[in-house]
Amino acid sequence: MSEVVALYRLQELELDILARAKRIKAINAQLEDDAALREAEADNEAAQLALAAVDASVRDMELEIAAAVDKRQSAESRLYAGEVTSPKELQDMQMEVEALARRKSALDDELQRLNAERDDLKGKAEDADARCSQAREEHETESADLLAEKQTLTETVSELLARRKSAVKAIPQPAFQTYNSLRAAKSNRPIAVLRDKACTICGIEQNYIVITAINRGDGLVHCQNCGRILIRA
Ligand SMILES: [Zn+2]
Repeated sequence: MSEVVALYRLQELELDILARAKRIKAINAQLEDDAALREAEADNEAAQLALAAVDASVRDMELEIAAAVDKRQSAESRLYAGEVTSPKELQDMQMEVEALARRKSALDDELQRLNAERDDLKGKAEDADARCSQAREEHETESADLLAEKQTLTETVSELLARRKSAVKAIPQPAFQTYNSLRAAKSNRPIAVLRDKACTICGIEQNYIVITAINRGDGLVHCQNCGRILIRA
């Protein structure tokens, strides 16, 4: 295998490793991103709290109604017990019983309103809970898929790194150094394919000196424009 072919294969190998490493990095970022799940959890928590608050209001209202009923019953029993004889006192007690009856009716209306609100919030809380479970399930499935993909990628990258190591060993040191010194400046592509007399990366057509040198196989020949090492297509 000529030096340039060996270098070109090394470049392909390194580009493959870099692409897989980039994908691993993207997977790591995706695994950390649980924004959708956290949003669903926050919505659910808010919905459950709203439901708990209206539940407490309903219970308070029921207690208040029970207390109003008790109060009215004891006022009525005093009224009908026949112990009170003063007309003024009787009238006051009658008015108190009526006031308590009006209060009970107002509280019943309020309880009805609270119960309707509770039904509404209960529905919302159930929906939020279902959405949260779904988001959690989706997140877990997605994470499992991503972790499996990452595992495969990591294994492949370590195999490729081992192959790269032996590929580098097989390349004469000066050629590898030239390749390596160009790599960073040429965005990991220090080798360019020559097609129809032109460098396929910068697009510049090469003069006959370059073409002749490539045809003769004179060591490493560089693109006269971008400086990359050229390989025939
Ligand atoms: Zn070029």
